[in-house]
Amino acid sequence: MSSNIGVMGHPIGHTKSPIFQQAGLNELGIDETFEAWDVLPEDLEDKVATFREKGFIAACVTLPHKQAVIPMVDELTEAAESVGAVNWIFNRDGKLIGHNTDCNGFLRALKEEAGFDPKGADAVVFGAGGAARAIVYALKTAGVNRLTIANRTVEKAQALANDFSEGRFKPTATGMSRDELSNYVPYANLLVNTTSLGMAGGPAELATPATADMISADAVGYDAVYAPPMTKFLREVEEAGGEPAGGMTMLVFQGIEGFEMATGKTAPVDTMFTALERALKSG
Ligand code: NAP
Repeated sequence: MSSNIGVMGHPIGHTKSPIFQQAGLNELGIDETFEAWDVLPEDLEDKVATFREKGFIAACVTLPHKQAVIPMVDELTEAAESVGAVNWIFNRDGKLIGHNTDCNGFLRALKEEAGFDPKGADAVVFGAGGAARAIVYALKTAGVNRLTIANRTVEKAQALANDFSEGRFKPTATGMSRDELSNYVPYANLLVNTTSLGMAGGPAELATPATADMISADAVGYDAVYAPPMTKFLREVEEAGGEPAGGMTMLVFQGIEGFEMATGKTAPVDTMFTALERALKSG
């Protein structure tokens, strides 16, 4: 018998969500097991249909299903609609609500880890994939002054910039060469890496989107990559005299918003962070 709460993706072996979500459920005495469901794309529709069952609470959604589940839910929140991706589905009396918590998760991480409010900031986002979409939307709603999207495939950066352009908010798109970045990075007080550069086990673990000589000492550098906790990019930010902040906080805070919407209870934040920190340390 399957549990009433969990995370689904494919593959799912790497997920850290059950570790800190279970710690939260246990702390509050909620008698549920936060499971990890390996769901193939061809089985997605059947799996989502089970989420309507009485007693089912919520599912966190990860790669590659974040877009595919959109037509399978009954209603989208404004965040999910704007980002074009669902990372949580809640069962409300048989009605499925698709939501995106990556945006608020990122903003809360910036605030609580780096004490940074992006309102009026001059920001550069490296990358134009799924994480970048959520972060660009978050920065737009938070009121950044200028935003540059830098990506290896510049067409994708341009498409993302176009999708979110509205009124005075018009992100600039650029490539990732040193020459191109030198027009934007030195002037930014917020740099966010959403590429997979620096990710443990990835093809470019020792790479960084920008180097210290280009980064302002006033800049906050946030890395969406959370393993390793101290990436090459964050070391470059530190060397420049800026403030480095790693992606674990975004991961937990997106999960905390989901946990609270699922359970209707305030999440035990410290317990959930401690559980994840321990798991990441032990590999
Ligand atoms: P994605 O949609 O696949 O996008 C990957 C991005 O990385 C693209 O912009 C891609 O550029 C770029 N990239 C990949 N290899 C590159 C290379 N060798 N050189 C330069 N750019 C390269 O992935 P995603 O879902 O956005 O995830 C990106 C990262 O964010 C992952 O490390 C993921 O773990 C992390 N993440 C963290 C959180 C969190 O909560 N902390 C949440 C979501 C994601 P092209 O367009 O040119 O291919």
